[in-house]
Amino acid sequence: MKGKASAYGGEKMALWKTWQEKKKVWIADGGWGTELQKRGLPPGDPPEAWNLSRPENVRAVALSYVEAGAEIILTNTFGGSPLKLAKVNLKGQVTEINRKGAEISKQAAGDRALVFASIGPSGEFMAPLGTYSEKEMIKGFAEQARALAEGGADGIVVETMMDLAEAQAALHAARESTSLPVAVTMTFNKGPKGFATMMGTRPEQAAAELEKSGAQIIGANCGTGIDQMIELMKLLRSATALPLWCKPNAGLPELIDGKTVYRETPERMASKLKALVQAGANIIGGCCGTTPAHIRAFIRERNLLVGQQPP
Ligand SMILES: [Zn+2]
Repeated sequence: MKGKASAYGGEKMALWKTWQEKKKVWIADGGWGTELQKRGLPPGDPPEAWNLSRPENVRAVALSYVEAGAEIILTNTFGGSPLKLAKVNLKGQVTEINRKGAEISKQAAGDRALVFASIGPSGEFMAPLGTYSEKEMIKGFAEQARALAEGGADGIVVETMMDLAEAQAALHAARESTSLPVAVTMTFNKGPKGFATMMGTRPEQAAAELEKSGAQIIGANCGTGIDQMIELMKLLRSATALPLWCKPNAGLPELIDGKTVYRETPERMASKLKALVQAGANIIGGCCGTTPAHIRAFIRERNLLVGQQPP
């Protein structure tokens, strides 16, 4: 399996290196869950099931981001780890769901965008807090990562992680079972003592540890709007020279008339892009509540910004 993975992984790595040299700031895609819900996915239903049952809707989301100009798009595989799929009785379809998720995004991307396949938390705690050993965690994530590579992904992004040990397990799994570049982004919240994940990991610590563990890109996603994301990028940048990826939410969710609403507009978010770049961000996308309109505004702003730089 390893030999097979390297056969296509090596090329992807070369492709990624070329991209890295070409541009200083890339724009990635925006929210998926919120976009799938607009197309009829009931809140609480597993979005990944749609890779098999309603691929045309999944493709429409991927395509909407490619058409907005995103240079990196993700996949509808966030909850595609075996432990997570087991909770919704889809454990037997791990390979199919993930492979198809990668294929759908690759088809939509064509040669216009790179596809980084999404791996989210397992939804379980690792020992000693939970019952799953590191070995079991790695085994599950490896199964997912292999299927994503088979589906043609150009890279993997482990995201929305709150437990550093679980993030490292997913990173190890992806590195061992594929030869793809791997990004790891964690979710931090700001408390009275500064930023930390729900499990208490600070951004500087996360960056240093993840770099040591072999992540090629590090970052933060979800949990905050764009203002706090600027502060977070500064903290991460102080601890690593690796490319930084950030995905702010379109503000914090508000409950209005029983509906979850994100209120930061594309214009307001795009007006902060320069500050994000100055803080150290290299890949900028959006998380919950961001839409193709947000990504289009980011692209416009980024092009202006790059145009202002001396050649
Ligand atoms: Zn989010």
